[in-house]
Amino acid sequence: MINASLKQLSAQLAAKKISSVELTQLYLDRIAALNPGLNAYITVNPEMSLAQAREADQRIAKSGASPFTGIPLAQKDIFCAKGWLTTCGSRMLHNFISPYDAHVIAQFNNAGAVNLGKTNMDEFAMGSSNETSHYGPVKNPWDKTRVPGGSSGGTAAAVAARLCAAATGTDTGGSIRQPAALCGISGLKPTYGVCSRYGMIAFASSLDQAGPMAKSAEDLALMLNVMAGFDERDSTSLQREKEDYARDLAKPLNGLRIGLPEEFFAEGLSGDVGQAVQAAIAEYKKLGATVVDISLPNSKLSVPVYYVLAPAEASSNLSRFDGVRYGYRAPEYSDLADMYEKSRAQGFGAEVKRRILIGTYVLSHGYYDAYYIKAQKIRRLIAQDFTDAFKQCDIIMGPTAPSTAFKLGEKGDDPVQMYLSDIYTIAVNLAGLPGMSIPCGFGANAMPVGLQIIGNYFDEARMLNAAHQYQLATDWHSRAPQGI
Ligand code: GLN
Repeated sequence: MINASLKQLSAQLAAKKISSVELTQLYLDRIAALNPGLNAYITVNPEMSLAQAREADQRIAKSGASPFTGIPLAQKDIFCAKGWLTTCGSRMLHNFISPYDAHVIAQFNNAGAVNLGKTNMDEFAMGSSNETSHYGPVKNPWDKTRVPGGSSGGTAAAVAARLCAAATGTDTGGSIRQPAALCGISGLKPTYGVCSRYGMIAFASSLDQAGPMAKSAEDLALMLNVMAGFDERDSTSLQREKEDYARDLAKPLNGLRIGLPEEFFAEGLSGDVGQAVQAAIAEYKKLGATVVDISLPNSKLSVPVYYVLAPAEASSNLSRFDGVRYGYRAPEYSDLADMYEKSRAQGFGAEVKRRILIGTYVLSHGYYDAYYIKAQKIRRLIAQDFTDAFKQCDIIMGPTAPSTAFKLGEKGDDPVQMYLSDIYTIAVNLAGLPGMSIPCGFGANAMPVGLQIIGNYFDEARMLNAAHQYQLATDWHSRAPQGI
């Protein structure tokens, strides 16, 4: 049951071979047994989950079910969910019970899905290893001495360890794709604007995007069908026709032109990852695809550009956490200014403070033109590189991350090394394009490797098609960690 696809689970529920209450209890029991060793969930609330499961069973009995009715999912703790503790991995929100649902959460509730709990994450989604969480690091289910990636590391570990049927993540610079790669699961960041950001705690608003994380591309397509769609409460939500992201899954790949950016296979890529990715490309050729060499000349600037723009936006977004309206307030202070200062000093962790300082600096009067405006201009060039590349190919492939999962603590005191974990993913966010990661083998220390697939704007269905056909031909995605 724990390895079943969403389609299979839905069929079992519809045929009443299992009830949603039984399925939910099965996952809750697994969470109780395995989560203490993994720390993938910050909050579980069996009572609330089982109440939703009972409702789902009633809906199924009345034949009013949708494909998600009764399916137990996990939600990244960045999504506000009514009545649930919503911490965003921060002490700042350690006591924040959300009074409302994020759009994405509401979509799943309307579909009848069950919320199993809120998954651990880097504080305010800032990190690539899940070590910045106020609730402690998440362990990689393939090797508990290693990181799961971040910031959606709790979600990635929960999916890999089969502690939920599928789950949500968010991706500002790689936070869905990189942990998916490091934990051997599939994850997709849609085109910017496809999923509403309403109720998703803001980090860098021009980059943040929600997306699904699951065991297979087929499951991602079904998840995205629920998550995507216009929402007037997010001014960057795109008004487009509803589409079925699973519609092209079965198409053969004959004639698909895959672009391989030379910059993604250069210095900095570890050999084991390069080999697994090349083997995946060879498999694609067998499936009928052709390969084109392309160049993304400005992509090497994506990390420095991102670390100007994302902190700038974060410094503005995080100014709302002042100890006044909600969240953490310092227990002792002398006056209002002291209350702000102490609340923010005690409520935020070191990485969040570093980003607020950088962001405030690059937005300051004397440096705005030199850093912020300059970075915006380069962002435009990075996007243009992709537009040019897509004249020669239909889809772009390469590694998701430069190496497999590293050891807990290994990059803790070197922020720049940590930032380089996202060297292949960040340009995609800067351009607003869709990107995904699927498992494509194992590298050093038998840790999973991820293949990144980048599509043109709104080409999610084609990317999912390419990923699904690969998953029909290979079985990397169905491997699970031992003892799980
Ligand atoms: N690792 C990147 C950062 O630390 C990206 C995080 C994300 O995508 N939320 O900002």
